[in-house]
Amino acid sequence: MTFDRFGRKIHYLRISLTDHCNLRCIYCMPEDQTFRANAELMQDDEILLFARLFAELGFDKIRLTGGEPTVRANITEIVRGIAQTPGIHSLSMTTNGLLLPRLAAPLAAAGLQHVNISIDTLDALKFKRLTHWGKLEQAWQGILAAEEAGLSPIKLNAVIVKGYNEEDVIDLAALTLQKSWQLRFIEMMPFAGVTTVQTQQIVTAAQIQAKIECEFGPLETNQRYDGEARIFRIRGAQGEIGFISSVTVPFCSACTRARLTADGVLRMCLLREKEFDLLTPLRNGATFEDLRQMILGAVWNKPWGHGLDEGDIPLNRAMNQIGG
Ligand code: SAM
Ligand code: SF4
Repeated sequence: MTFDRFGRKIHYLRISLTDHCNLRCIYCMPEDQTFRANAELMQDDEILLFARLFAELGFDKIRLTGGEPTVRANITEIVRGIAQTPGIHSLSMTTNGLLLPRLAAPLAAAGLQHVNISIDTLDALKFKRLTHWGKLEQAWQGILAAEEAGLSPIKLNAVIVKGYNEEDVIDLAALTLQKSWQLRFIEMMPFAGVTTVQTQQIVTAAQIQAKIECEFGPLETNQRYDGEARIFRIRGAQGEIGFISSVTVPFCSACTRARLTADGVLRMCLLREKEFDLLTPLRNGATFEDLRQMILGAVWNKPWGHGLDEGDIPLNRAMNQIGG
């Protein structure tokens, strides 16, 4: 069991497999973003070694992210290796879904249990505008492939951006009427790279909820959380609606997470710049015990919460370089 100094049990690791991506979502990174050389990223054996070390310290839940995790070479083998790591009971992935039509079945067979797929609109033109060049149909086929492969429950992530897709919350929410999917609306958070969009064009969870309720009536809730998402339901719907309001209603007191970036750096708060490099010591010959002590020290010193209210924006990385 690994606890921080505030008594929070930290047992959920998000591993970014790469900072590379096949899209350029306007709220995530600039169109001319450059990426790290592969040699700077954790190699397959290094990822598996870190998964084992974290599992030995009591981490039982891993989510793979990026960048876009599915563009990583050997993704199926990496998933298989992590799924077979003793102590890991939950293995999931956040993806834009574009490559799932061919990868969903092999990933499920390798031990992936759940996916969250990002889709911000059901309008092909707006999808292209939001992602710079993505094809909506490809993401949609990815969602269907994930469902077919049993990567359920299907959770869809949508970031709402003023001037781009505010009206699309209705169509997205309406998906839950017939489908037992969870549609999660994520408040845009600020990082490096596209900070102006992220701070000037944010749509709050309360604004999104008001739009949805205007169309479908008051949302039902039993005050349940699913991870960081506050869960609601349109009356009579099959699926659920979640609000992840990290900016306006932070969930820091209940945070159980750590993040390992693709370049092997441990980040204990998504929205704080403080980082602990694990990959360089590993490559310089640190023992497993040294690395365990570094991880325990980082966990102990996990920040209480973010400082957005005080204007403290983390500017040392863009979102794709951390892992959402
Ligand atoms: N490429 C994958 C994807 O898009 O799902 C995984 C990585 S992406 C960084 C993880 C999640 O972060 C996605 O759901 C994405 O929509 C979300 N995201 C990206 N930039 C964000 C921002 N500035 N604020 C809030 N969420 C963001
Ligand atoms: Fe790529 Fe995901 Fe960032 Fe979009 S949100 S640019 S798909 S990493």
